[in-house]
Amino acid sequence: MPTYTAPVKDMQFLLHDVLKISEADIPGYSDLDRSFTEAVFDEAAKVAQDVLTPLNAVGDVEGCVLENGVVRTPKGFREAFKTLSEGGWMSLDAAPDYGGQGLPYLMHTAVNETFVSANMAFNMYQGLTHGAYTAILIHGTVAQKQTWLPKLVTCEWTGTMNLTEPHCGTDLGLLRTRAEPQADGSYKLTGQKIFISAGDHDMASNIVHLVLAKAPGGGEGTKGISLFIVPKVLVNEDGSLGARNAVSVGKVEEKMGIHGNATCVMNYDGATGWLLGDLHKGMKAMFTMMNEARLGVALQGYAVAEAAYQNALAYAKDRLQGRDVTGVKNASGPADPLIVHPDIRRNLMEQKSFVEGARALTFWGAT
Ligand SMILES: Cc1cc2nc3c(=O)[nH]c(=O)nc-3n(C[C@H](O)[C@H](O)[C@H](O)COP(=O)(O)OP(=O)(O)OC[C@H]3O[C@@H](n4cnc5c(N)ncnc54)[C@H](O)[C@@H]3O)c2cc1C
Repeated sequence: MPTYTAPVKDMQFLLHDVLKISEADIPGYSDLDRSFTEAVFDEAAKVAQDVLTPLNAVGDVEGCVLENGVVRTPKGFREAFKTLSEGGWMSLDAAPDYGGQGLPYLMHTAVNETFVSANMAFNMYQGLTHGAYTAILIHGTVAQKQTWLPKLVTCEWTGTMNLTEPHCGTDLGLLRTRAEPQADGSYKLTGQKIFISAGDHDMASNIVHLVLAKAPGGGEGTKGISLFIVPKVLVNEDGSLGARNAVSVGKVEEKMGIHGNATCVMNYDGATGWLLGDLHKGMKAMFTMMNEARLGVALQGYAVAEAAYQNALAYAKDRLQGRDVTGVKNASGPADPLIVHPDIRRNLMEQKSFVEGARALTFWGAT
C-alpha cells in the first residue's frame, strides 16, 4: 500500500525562503507568516495522510459505478468529502461574501498539492468545483453569484466543465451542442458531452454544469460559442432544490487510472440553462475555468510525482539487492539496500529535483 507524508518543510522553505511571500506586495500576503502557514499545512497534512491516502487505492480498485442513472463513488468517498467540506478545506481562498475564508489562492494551491498527492481522483471533485466557482465569480450576474456561489464554496453543490464532444476535443469550433433561447430568458440545451470529470456522483445534492453550446446568431467556429449554467437539479426562487433538469449520464468512461473520479458522458436533452457572461463570448468565460484547470493539471503532475518519489525512496531503502561497489554496507544482511547503488541514487535525485522545480514554478504561478 503506497504511503504519503506531506512535505511541509519543503513547502515552507519555498514560501518563506525562496518566494518570501510575507514580504510580497500582494493583498493578503502580509498575514502569511511562517507560523500561520505551518499551522495550516500541518492540519492539511493530517487530512491528506489520515483521510485521503487510505482511500486512494480502494478508490482506484472499486471505481465509480453508474446505477439507476446515478454514479456511486467508491466506499468512503462520501464521508471523506463531508469531512473536507465541514473542515472548511474547500473554501480556503473563496470570497468571504459567499462564505469563503478569503485566503490567497496560493494557500489553496499549496494545500491542494497535499490532497492531490494523497488522492488525485478524490480531489478532482473539489478542483472542478473551484473552477466553476471562479468562472461564475468573474462572469456571473449578481443574482447568479448569489444563487450558485455559496453552495459551491462549501461543496454542498459541485461543479463541472463541459467542452468536449464525441467529434471535437481540441477543435472546439466544431461543437454541435445547441442552446435555444426561451421566452423567460433561459435556454434549452441539447447535445452530448464526453469525458466530463466529476460529471455525476453521490457526494453533493446538486451539480452545476458549465456547458459550452452554440446559440443562434453566433459566427462560425469558436466565435459562435456561449457558456451556460446548467444544473443537474433546478433551483427554486427561494434557493431550495426543485425538479430534475433534463441532464443525464450516458456512461462512466473507461480509463487507465483515476477510477475514483467519475469521468462521464453527459446527455443534455432540452436541459434548462442560463447564459454565463456575454452571448457568443463563451470561450473567454470558459477559459477563466480552463486557465485554473491548466495550473491544476500541472500541480497534479508533480503532486503525483511527489507521492511516487516518496514511495520509490522507501522501497530503495527497504529492498536488499547486490552489494555496494565501495564495500558492504549491510553486513548483517544478505545484501545491501538498493539505495547504495549510484544509478538508483541518481534516479531518486532526478525525481526529487523535478518535483521541487515543478513545485516552485507552480507556487510562483499561483502568486
Ligand atoms: C481523464 C480525462 C478527464 C477529462 N475531463 C474533461 C472535462 O472535465 N471536461 C471536458 O470538456 N473535457 C475533458 N476531457 C477531455 C479533454 O479535454 C480532451 O481529451 C482534450 O481536449 C483533447 O481532445 P481529444 O481527446 O478529442 O483529442 P483530439 O482533439 O482528437 O486530438 C488528438 C491529438 O492530436 C493533437 N492535436 C490536435 N490538434 C492539433 C493541432 N492543431 N496541432 C498539433 N496537435 C494537435 C492533440 O494534442 C492530441 O494529442 C478529459 C479527458 C480525460 C482523458
